[in-house]
Amino acid sequence: RKESTTAATPAAAGPASTVATKGQVDIHNIRKSFGNTEVLQGVSLSVPPGGVTVIVGPSGSGKSTLLRTINHLEKVDGGFITIDGELVGYQARGNKLHELRGKDILKQRTNVGMVFQNFNLFPHLTALENVAEAPIVAQKRSKAEARKRGLELLDRVGLKDRADAYPRQLSGGQQQRVAIARALALEPKILLFDEPTSALDPELVNEVLDVIRELATSGTTLIVVTHEMGFARDVADTVVFIDQGRIIESGAPQDIFSNPREERTRSFFSKVI
Ligand code: ADP
Ligand code: MG
Repeated sequence: RKESTTAATPAAAGPASTVATKGQVDIHNIRKSFGNTEVLQGVSLSVPPGGVTVIVGPSGSGKSTLLRTINHLEKVDGGFITIDGELVGYQARGNKLHELRGKDILKQRTNVGMVFQNFNLFPHLTALENVAEAPIVAQKRSKAEARKRGLELLDRVGLKDRADAYPRQLSGGQQQRVAIARALALEPKILLFDEPTSALDPELVNEVLDVIRELATSGTTLIVVTHEMGFARDVADTVVFIDQGRIIESGAPQDIFSNPREERTRSFFSKVI
């Protein structure tokens, strides 16, 4: 049953020619349950290439789950996602969908980089080794080439001089900047940030937000879950408010912050701003 419901939907999305070419994400009516709880209750969202979409909402509203589905780290129970018109995690054959195999899923994931709340660096690798690891392993780059590129990326996040430091020798803000450099190493079209500053001491938040601000001008599509409303106001093209597994409303920051249409949005912002 699941196969035929999801299989019917890509055609309904219209011809692929309407989809832009670099880093466009289209989320069509996705549903996801854990046990008896439906944590995504039919979420649809179109993210144009190259912009910044900020997702806000209360704890437990499904923000992390939504981000994880874009990478196929979480399978959906209904609906589908495309990146530049290509189905995420599945391949259509005839009128059936087949889940991609491990190798093909990994290949597709190189389109999408992800930065987590808790940095998730490899503790036994230096900053540079953390950044160079994926290009060496996944893309079979030479060590010399991966190191050179890794140093450029560390320079971009202001950490070239800490290339040989281990994660435990770095502050939280520095570790998160290394994690961003690592996410950039495979040159993804899309970068997902899941509360990238929530684990940081307040004085370290801005050095990370500044790096994300700089990326916002780079042409990479950024999707950022955050509680930093000042950042959302300054940097987002679109702010999406999600509550209890549904998108309640979305819009340009100046509209949604000053003039939310929905009472739930108003009430959320009155608590966090
Ligand atoms: P948010 O990121 O907005 O705080 P999440 O997407 O992490 O929300 O979680 C949404 C809901 O799904 C929460 O109730 C959470 O407890 C539940 N949940 C998330 N991941 C799992 C999982 N792997 N197993 C069971 N429940 C989960
Ligand atoms: Mg979360």
